[in-house]
Amino acid sequence: MSAKCPALFLSHGAPTLPCEDNSSRRFLADLAISFAKPRAVVVVSAHWQTRDVRVTGSAAPATIHDFYGFDKKLYAMHYRAPGAPRLAAELRDILAVAGFAATVDETRGLDHGVWSPLHIMLPAAEVPTLQVSLQLGEGPQHHFGLGRALAALRDQGVLVIGSGGAVHNLGVLEFDSARVPAPAQRFDDWLVDRVLAEDHAALFAYRQEQGDAVWAHPCEEHLLPLFVAMGAGGRPECLHRAFLHGGLAMTAFAFH
Ligand code: ZN
Repeated sequence: MSAKCPALFLSHGAPTLPCEDNSSRRFLADLAISFAKPRAVVVVSAHWQTRDVRVTGSAAPATIHDFYGFDKKLYAMHYRAPGAPRLAAELRDILAVAGFAATVDETRGLDHGVWSPLHIMLPAAEVPTLQVSLQLGEGPQHHFGLGRALAALRDQGVLVIGSGGAVHNLGVLEFDSARVPAPAQRFDDWLVDRVLAEDHAALFAYRQEQGDAVWAHPCEEHLLPLFVAMGAGGRPECLHRAFLHGGLAMTAFAFH
């Protein structure tokens, strides 16, 4: 039996993160040594959206380069962690009991919301890795419930990660800019404050509760993974804060 891992929310930044040298990359590189090595990793990323819940079931998931116009070296990067078909089937059953009719997808690989942070955190790529899809349009409470269903896996040494972004407004992206737009700062401050206060009611209604929320998340797929991590864990801890590229907050939380 492996030791219990926290649930994590990670902001994955731009696809270039594995090739960048900044505090967010260094944070991820140091993160894995702060808890016991997981038996498996289950990630819900902003970048796999399906109507119903799906779980990757491939024994050798491919690396998906789901971004355009970046440096060639990014397209040459691969993350060759094994899959875990048996765990995928177990997960489908756990989700069914929790009321989520999930299916196992034998062909889907891992998108950059999964492999980009894991390439930095667990570079040996030896821990079996699964991805669970996101349901854009189903909102925060659905994803909190999805996280709740995954929580039992943590007792078996499975690391549950929600991978998105605390502020994600691509319209103001400026590569290598140190500028932090005021709405980005305000939303991130509010988010950290409410997460640490465990104010789930305000967080579920974030689009109405905080005046910069729609600016910070024109579309909410990068915030929904936060609710998965929150549902999968307990006591919150803010692990990291930084801004990159003029509008991406790199905030990370653990839920113990
Ligand atoms: Zn992303």
